[in-house]
Amino acid sequence: MIIEDDPSIADLLDLYLREGGFRPLQAASGMRGLELVEQHQPALVVLDIGLPDIDGFEVCRRIRARSSVPVLFLTARDGEIDRVLGLELGADDYVVKPFSPRELVARVKAILRRGQPPAPAAATTLSVGEMVDVDVARREARVRGVAIPLATKEFDLLAHFARNQGLALSRQQLLDAVWGADWYGDDRTVDVHVRQLRKKLGDDLPLATVWGVGYRLG
Ligand code: CA
Repeated sequence: MIIEDDPSIADLLDLYLREGGFRPLQAASGMRGLELVEQHQPALVVLDIGLPDIDGFEVCRRIRARSSVPVLFLTARDGEIDRVLGLELGADDYVVKPFSPRELVARVKAILRRGQPPAPAAATTLSVGEMVDVDVARREARVRGVAIPLATKEFDLLAHFARNQGLALSRQQLLDAVWGADWYGDDRTVDVHVRQLRKKLGDDLPLATVWGVGYRLG
């Protein structure tokens, strides 16, 4: 996102950022910039300080009130640099006009690289009903926050139920999914494990018996 009222600078930046693989948006005023930031959630904001309505400092303050998107200031004068550095606006970097567009793109890339948050962990905890959580990563079932020890197959069965909540699953489907398609055995095995789950997790486990089919969680 480029917030800059000087069209020649904005277009130049636009051009170089596109060459750098970005798809920039432009705003020529602070308020328009805030609007677009809100609407488009850009990866980074290049922010001029001298803008026709509210200045870049105020824009930054308002962005910061609701977002941690990186902000790179374009400053024109030494006095502005002091303010960028002194106001603790949460700016990530600044460049002084006149600047080399190439360098600006390099700075943008550097900020995005270092600012990359760790990949969000895949949702590893599945909620079952009101009280039961199945934490697949820790292989832990919790009832009201208290971990309940389960045997391996009991946990696998519960996790499979949790991933398929609302579906009526036959004993054969459960056997295939949890014990493996090449497991030969009595499908009463499923009943035994379900009974154990019910015993261990109690009435908080919304696991229903679907007559003639098998079981359904949730
Ligand atoms: Ca300006």
